[in-house]
Amino acid sequence: MFTSVLIANRGEIAVRVARTARRLGMRTIAIYSEADAGAMHTRVCDEAHLIGPPAARESYLDIAKIVAVARRVGAQCIHPGYGFLSENPEFADACASAGIAFVGPPASAIRAMGLKDRAKAMMAEAGVPVVPGYHGERQDAVFLKQKASDLGYPVLVKAVAGGGGKGMRRVDKHAEFDAALASAQREAQSAFGDARVLIEKYVAAPRHIEFQVFADSRGNVIHLNERDCSLQRRHQKVVEEAPAPGMTAKLRAAMGSAAIEAARAVGYVGAGTVEFIADGSKGLRADGFWFMEMNTRLQVEHPVTEAITGLDLVEWQFRIAAGERLPQAQREIAMSGHAIEARLYAEDPHRGFLPVAGKIIAFDAAPDVRVDTGYATGDVVTPYYDPMIAKLIAHAPTRAAALDRLAAALAQTTIVGPRTNAAFLIALLQAGDFRAEKFDTAFIERNLDALVAALRTPDKAAAARGVAHLLDRSRRRPARADEEPVALSPWDATDGFQLSGARTVAWPAIVDDQKMIAVVAFDAGGARVTIDHVAPDAAAKVFENGEVAYVIRGGRQTVVDLAGAAGDHAELASGGGILRAPMHGKVLAVLVDKGAQVKRGQRVAVVEAMKMEHAIVAPFDGRVGEVAVEPGAQVAEKATIMTIEPEA
Ligand code: ADP
Repeated sequence: MFTSVLIANRGEIAVRVARTARRLGMRTIAIYSEADAGAMHTRVCDEAHLIGPPAARESYLDIAKIVAVARRVGAQCIHPGYGFLSENPEFADACASAGIAFVGPPASAIRAMGLKDRAKAMMAEAGVPVVPGYHGERQDAVFLKQKASDLGYPVLVKAVAGGGGKGMRRVDKHAEFDAALASAQREAQSAFGDARVLIEKYVAAPRHIEFQVFADSRGNVIHLNERDCSLQRRHQKVVEEAPAPGMTAKLRAAMGSAAIEAARAVGYVGAGTVEFIADGSKGLRADGFWFMEMNTRLQVEHPVTEAITGLDLVEWQFRIAAGERLPQAQREIAMSGHAIEARLYAEDPHRGFLPVAGKIIAFDAAPDVRVDTGYATGDVVTPYYDPMIAKLIAHAPTRAAALDRLAAALAQTTIVGPRTNAAFLIALLQAGDFRAEKFDTAFIERNLDALVAALRTPDKAAAARGVAHLLDRSRRRPARADEEPVALSPWDATDGFQLSGARTVAWPAIVDDQKMIAVVAFDAGGARVTIDHVAPDAAAKVFENGEVAYVIRGGRQTVVDLAGAAGDHAELASGGGILRAPMHGKVLAVLVDKGAQVKRGQRVAVVEAMKMEHAIVAPFDGRVGEVAVEPGAQVAEKATIMTIEPEA
């Protein structure tokens, strides 16, 4: 076995590889870009070496730099993880030239599987079923269109150099072919520098089922069962599970041997994944699956296979790269229970799944599941790399129990700061048809509106909890350490304005960039906050950062800002702010005089309307200009109450 490894990757996979390497007694060597200084993968390794600027091209993708570091520090092998250089044959060659073992397949196998058209031709020759289609050299539009028409619509146009769903177009009608071809070619040219495409039949109700294979350098090849990765968004996997729902022992044997044949055909060594597409329209069938591609590396979703087999796939990778035999034979591979993985991303499902960056204010992962992550509290999600924060993997005796366990874990996981897709994942795991095993690769797209519907409406129970927390907090201590308590709180308003008996105060708040009015009712029992009659959820978790509360509830984050809402009734004019009445009502109190110094968030007047008090607060630090009203006066909606001039 090796005694040292350089891990040419970052994030959760670098951390995960280091865990096994360390258990095997290896010295672990991390590399990092400037954007990853201090990142978790550098902390868990024995040593870490800076290799360049944030841009991946100048760091994690720079073959010469990485190999130079490996030589300099005396790394015996390099583990590439997934992504970055993991499927780059030049990298495998460069490692070999430097006398460093590459923990992956031979460069020749990577090359053979690198182009979809050649890989498909080779697989067809090896007797592996491939999707009917045209995988040849001719690329003129008229010819390709004829091929599409011969196959029968719908067809899929795919870039031969493709990956990540790029350069791929589904075409449903003959009339739409030319436009789809042109756009696939354009995208392929710009993404891969290779405009060539292939045409294949679009499989109905497609299920993505892949087989984990392992081969050693003595010609032994086995498979470790399948994974179902049909839940995808834009051809990217979101949730993966093992075994595949609806899989039979007979079909598993058939697909498993096709996967083994595929690996043999390219002289494969190490861990690989053979991806098939299966026609799920009438249930999985032995004549209804076809080779799609082979990924010549460890997959993101390998933990579900580890869960059901009880094996450590990274350990196997190291053993095989070190020249050992496969640790087990095919018949020894166990399979127990059901495992399911969800990819937790820093992204905003509510805004088209836009990636988000930022500091993780708190990260508290749920128990009961395996959590693979490259982040902890205080770490920063930067905009330079894939925004996946963690993978959560649940393992249970049955599929239903695994789904429940994962959904519960996502609901209990606390990530504060960057918004995540946790609530979306929970909705997915709870979707009736998915639980009933009625799904295909278009499931998410078809149900997207329903899956994100709940995220479109504000979480008022969380918002109310945030308001209650901030009001309570401002009573307890100053907003900032160097500051006197600001009279934000009706509990102890220092402005001397108090009414006897029950009071109800309307308090403006900004909830996820949206204005809301919280209603705070005071009576003998204390204060109660509601928003549109919705009370706070006491079970929600609240974190504060500066003057803002982050409320985590059901995998969803709601950000509440009271001070930011202070200017709610202010109209910011050139010279300062004009404070206006929020609605028709009666001035109950004017709390400051002309010329008085006021602080941002300080109450300056109180207007009663609709049987409620509305606090008028200063939008910024400043001095009171004109006061336009007196206590007892009736004011119309938007009537000027006073003006505030900002502090110079
Ligand atoms: P990429 O390498 O760009 O990820 P793949 O060939 O692996 O492209 O395909 C990605 C996804 O596209 C698959 O997981 C599947 O959901 C869908 N897909 C691919 N080929 C077909 C097909 N012939 N019919 C229907 N769906 C397909």
